[in-house]
This record gives sequence, C-alpha cells and structure tokens, in this order.
Amino acid sequence: MTDLPLSDPLAIAANLARIKARIAEACGRAGRDPATVTLVAVSKTHPAEAVEAAIAAGQAVFGENRVQEAAGKFPGLRAENPAIRLHIIGGLQTNKARDAVRVADVIESLDRPKLAAAIAEAIRKEGRVPELLVQVNTGAEPQKFGVARDEASSFLRQCRDEHGLKVSGLMCIPPEGEDPLPHFDWLADLAAKEGLPVLSMGMSGDFEAAIACGSTQVRVGSAIFGARPYPAP
Ligand SMILES: *Cc1c(COP(=O)(O)O)cnc(C)c1O
Repeated sequence: MTDLPLSDPLAIAANLARIKARIAEACGRAGRDPATVTLVAVSKTHPAEAVEAAIAAGQAVFGENRVQEAAGKFPGLRAENPAIRLHIIGGLQTNKARDAVRVADVIESLDRPKLAAAIAEAIRKEGRVPELLVQVNTGAEPQKFGVARDEASSFLRQCRDEHGLKVSGLMCIPPEGEDPLPHFDWLADLAAKEGLPVLSMGMSGDFEAAIACGSTQVRVGSAIFGARPYPAP
C-alpha cells in the first residue's frame, strides 16, 4: 500500500466542511432540516489514514463498496472510534454476506432473494442486525446491481415475509451521463408508497439534486477524499 498518496488531513477537513455547507444550502432550498440528511463519506480505495482524518474532522459515517476492503480497514478504526458507522454500498456476493453482516452497520445493496436468504442466515449466526436497504437498478443497466423497478415491491414483500428481514429504505445509482432527477423521483415515490423512511441517493456529482428529491442519505466520496488512487471495481 506504499504507493497510495498521503491523505492530506487539512484538505479532507476543508472538503467535509464544504460538503456539509452545500448539504445545508440544498436543504434550505428544499425547505428541509439538514438534520434529516446523513452524509456518508465514501472512503473506498483510500487508506485508513484518510478515514482517520475525516473522523478527526467530526465525520462518523462511512461507506465502502467492498466487504474485504472494509473488513481490513474498519475493525481497527472502530476499536479506536467506537461511534463510527459503516455502510456497505457495493454489490454483494452471497458468499460475502456473513462478512458483511459482521462488519457493517448498514447494508445498502440487498437486491435479490438468494442474498436476502444469506443475510438472514448470517444475522441468525452472528447475532448482529445491520440496517438494510434494497438497491434498485432504476436505469435497468445490465452491468449494475439492483432489483428491477417492476420487481422491487414484490422483492420487498419477499424480504419481509419469507426471510423475516426488516428493510428500512431504498438505494439507487442513476446511469452516468443521464439526468438523475427522474431516477431520484421514482425511488422517492416507491419509498413513500412502501412506507420506507430511508432514501440513499446522491453522490459527489448530484447530491444536491438528490436532496431536492427527498434523499435522506448522500454517499459522497471524491468530493471529500479526492480522486481515488485506483479505480474502484
Ligand atoms: C463510489 C461510490 C459513491 C461515491 O462516489 P463519488 O462520485 O466519488 O462521490 C457513491 N455510491 C456508491 C454506490 C459508490 O460505489
């Protein structure tokens, strides 16, 4: 890991302050209380030192897209900072469900029956219950994770009725280069219809638009930690 760039704590603190101010402004424009929007700082590919710098600047909620990377980075950070929370935001292989349940406070990428069964079993075995969000592939992109739009409601029922899982909300990643608003609006409508309070939408490039559409969790990586030292898978 010696070829990773040093994480500049001052830059990370300044970026965090800037993002929080922009979240507050977006909430102001939308007539929303900024306390209703959680900033998830996406630290994937960045070293533990970058996360430590963010923690020192007051950030407590982090996102990682790979369970293995999270399992390497976060137990040590958590031992030093028990209040931090970790969201797994990337597509999850069924055979990683147990590791995910062990390390995550929130799993945002529940998207298929086999994974629901694996997570339910992992919860029983680990005696640990992460908050769960269902990821919807709103753009019907073949390379993306997420349940299809027209299967989302039945999948939510299946999670609850067949697997005994409590789902708190929905997550989406709109297609790159497309107007994200219709995707955010669609997801917000589904969450309202299903009575789900949590909406994870918005990244560095579109979190203000997501807040206007009702997002309660924005996942911001590069605008806080800088460009990723290597592409995240
Ligand atoms: C990497 C990632 C983000 C953060 O992306 P940025 O554009 O760097 O803010 C948000 N959500 C998911 C699911 C990601 O994988």
